[in-house]
Amino acid sequence: AESRFIAANPGSAERHKAASQAMPGGNTRTVLHFDPFPLAWRRGEGAVLEDIDGHRYIDFLGEYSAGLYGHSNPVILEAVRDALADGIVLGGPNAYEAGLASVLQERFPSLELLRFCNSGTEANMFAIQTARAATRRSKVMVFEGGYHGGVFYFRQGGMPLNLPIDWVIAPYNDIEGSLDLIKKHGKDLAAVLVEPMLGSGCLPADPAFLLALRESCTAHGIVLIFDEVMTSRLSTGGLQAALRITPDMTTLGKYIGGGMSFGAFGGRRDLMQRFDPARADAWPHAGTFNNNVLTMSAGLTGLTKIYTGEAVARLNAKGDRLRNGINDLARRHEAPLLATGHGSFVGLHFSDRPVTRPQDIDPAGEPKRKALHKLIHLDFIAAGIYMARRGYMALMLPLSDADIEKFLAATDEFMQSRQQVLS
Ligand code: PMP
Repeated sequence: AESRFIAANPGSAERHKAASQAMPGGNTRTVLHFDPFPLAWRRGEGAVLEDIDGHRYIDFLGEYSAGLYGHSNPVILEAVRDALADGIVLGGPNAYEAGLASVLQERFPSLELLRFCNSGTEANMFAIQTARAATRRSKVMVFEGGYHGGVFYFRQGGMPLNLPIDWVIAPYNDIEGSLDLIKKHGKDLAAVLVEPMLGSGCLPADPAFLLALRESCTAHGIVLIFDEVMTSRLSTGGLQAALRITPDMTTLGKYIGGGMSFGAFGGRRDLMQRFDPARADAWPHAGTFNNNVLTMSAGLTGLTKIYTGEAVARLNAKGDRLRNGINDLARRHEAPLLATGHGSFVGLHFSDRPVTRPQDIDPAGEPKRKALHKLIHLDFIAAGIYMARRGYMALMLPLSDADIEKFLAATDEFMQSRQQVLS
């Protein structure tokens, strides 16, 4: 599979080599790397990506969920062009930002007040600092396998580049284990920061787990933060609205900026009103591009003109069809492949047992799983289908039912032709 890939992609190989002169690994975003070298894109339209060697792919990666509107969406393009024509670095409030803020406030139950920043990473940094300043406590609980941005990466063994915060790392979807840690560190915990679905692996939280965190945080005066950078697309008001569990604070990013750099954090009025600069005791919150005109315009247009409740339901149904279809095929072939996720998110796992928590994944099987992920990734590329190497998919609006069926046909073919390595 690898030699076929190398032979088919001389342009991407050449670019990788040239780019490696200036950037380590020829890359400026680790998650986009895969071996032997990543495909480099020339352009995208709808759900189709074209690489610099001229191949076309159906895009199931969806830019890790920021690409929800599809490539070159004409409605988004128009919003960006309109904003562009009126000037983009105005250095003051603009015509779009309050509109976007009020749509988000209306949609997300926890967002009594909110502010913008430039990425999901920043949103989490600001939310954590807000909770630390409000509670005058220092520790922050996060979860094994969680990801909250470039400086927040919680895997076994820790990550040397994590911000120097006093982290407490709890087991995901483990009520007893997490509540024990909250009890132990309760007086020092400023915040519990949790993804309502672990983006890494697309593992949804058990609602009972989130409810237990909700109750325990209230009892201990801890700020509960939902990182909905990914899950915000799962209903018009995010997973919190769908589950009817309201955190104290929420962080957002990805598609909500219409495909531009975006982040937002917000929550309870009593916490967020401290950012009012007119107050004598105001907390500062700065960022040159926080109200970036292109982002604000594209974001507002996307939410109001495209991602309506009906569009959300249609997209989630496509994800359900894909996930259920993969799992049906795996059962029929008795193949150790499993699709997890929620609505428009689908994660592939090579496992013959259910996977609901990172702890369910046997570390001893890692080399074999890695090889299988590489194989399915390269086989699907050869079939004109693009997803993340680790089997992550965030469906985008222009994906058609035929695209979903094409993915399922490729899955069927993979299980057939790779029967030997799978068993
Ligand atoms: N939180 C979650 C749950 C994410 O999935 C991501 C991005 N993958 C982030 C935070 C960070 O967002 P950004 O890449 O915009 O900094």
